[in-house]
Amino acid sequence: MPGRTTVLVTGGAGFIGSHTCVELLDHGYDVVVVDDYSNSSPGALERVAKIAARPPVAVHEIDLLDRRALSRVFDEHHIDAVIHFAAKKAVGESVELPVEYYDTNVGGTTALLRAMHDHGVHRLVFSSSCSIYGNATKVPLTEEDPAGPTNPYATSKWLCEQVLADTCRHLPRLSVLVLRYFNPVGAHPSGLLGEVPRGAVPNNVMPYLARVAAGRLPKLSVFGDDYPTTDGTGVRDYIHVMDVAEGHRVALEHLVGENGMRVFNLGTGQGTSVLELVAAFQRASGTSIPYEITGRRPGDVPALVADPSAVARAWNWTTTRDLTAMCEDVWRFQELNPSGYPN
Ligand code: UDP
Repeated sequence: MPGRTTVLVTGGAGFIGSHTCVELLDHGYDVVVVDDYSNSSPGALERVAKIAARPPVAVHEIDLLDRRALSRVFDEHHIDAVIHFAAKKAVGESVELPVEYYDTNVGGTTALLRAMHDHGVHRLVFSSSCSIYGNATKVPLTEEDPAGPTNPYATSKWLCEQVLADTCRHLPRLSVLVLRYFNPVGAHPSGLLGEVPRGAVPNNVMPYLARVAAGRLPKLSVFGDDYPTTDGTGVRDYIHVMDVAEGHRVALEHLVGENGMRVFNLGTGQGTSVLELVAAFQRASGTSIPYEITGRRPGDVPALVADPSAVARAWNWTTTRDLTAMCEDVWRFQELNPSGYPN
């Protein structure tokens, strides 16, 4: 896409959204952000502007379910393409609050599609998740492997994929890329932008590890060491958030001149166990991380690793940042921002 293309980024203040905004601004795109700050803060967008040396052209604090406000955003800006990150994403919470998850994630997506349709916008990159594969019977996973979501979060993403696929079948001008992320971690190498989970105790292993390493939490609980994996702990495909951000920018280039929906895994193809992650983080941070083995976390699966070859073939693009870079960048962000972004 030529320069001065305007991209609407929903959830642009969130972890992946904010890094993607930097990537887009760095590559000459204009960015319009929509975020309700329900799990993010304006501080992230201040850092985006600092890193990219220019801000998004506009930031709208709205809920996607507020259809009038969303329509006004499309009235106000000439939007060329949309990247849709805004969603709820905690597996455990989704089991407690399924209605909220379907409302925000599925309802938010249909509201966005409606606004795009009404305003003649036909290009969309959609955030999906490897969690849709559920209890995978094999690794690595290709896009053709069957879905089997095991919780409302994963089901909400799977439902969105179905809605998008069917809409594409009936509206041939629509061009949609669905990206199924594996485990995004890491931070911008400047140390200015990273993952700032809401709440005192992070759910995900990487931000938890970072806080243990910093002495802000006493120890890591390793959820199970009796999985059928190399050392018994859960294996995941950790991918640097800057690679995820780059993947979105490259995706935008492939939306032009295409129609219909295509689905790609975004992962490295490299599986890492929890204990291997602890060891890598200790090396990167020069700290010692106390941990104890506890019981399995309900809903967890043994191993999720991407086969990233489809995206490599389609786009001639692969991830470039390794586990060491992921850990070093997280540690830099942790040290420079022990309490996250200033209020
Ligand atoms: N995990 C852990 N302790 C924690 C958080 C996570 O041992 O405090 C494990 C979890 O069981 C899984 C891996 O780390 O095997 C990644 O979990 P995370 O919540 O980061 O991502 P998920 O794969 O569940 O989306």
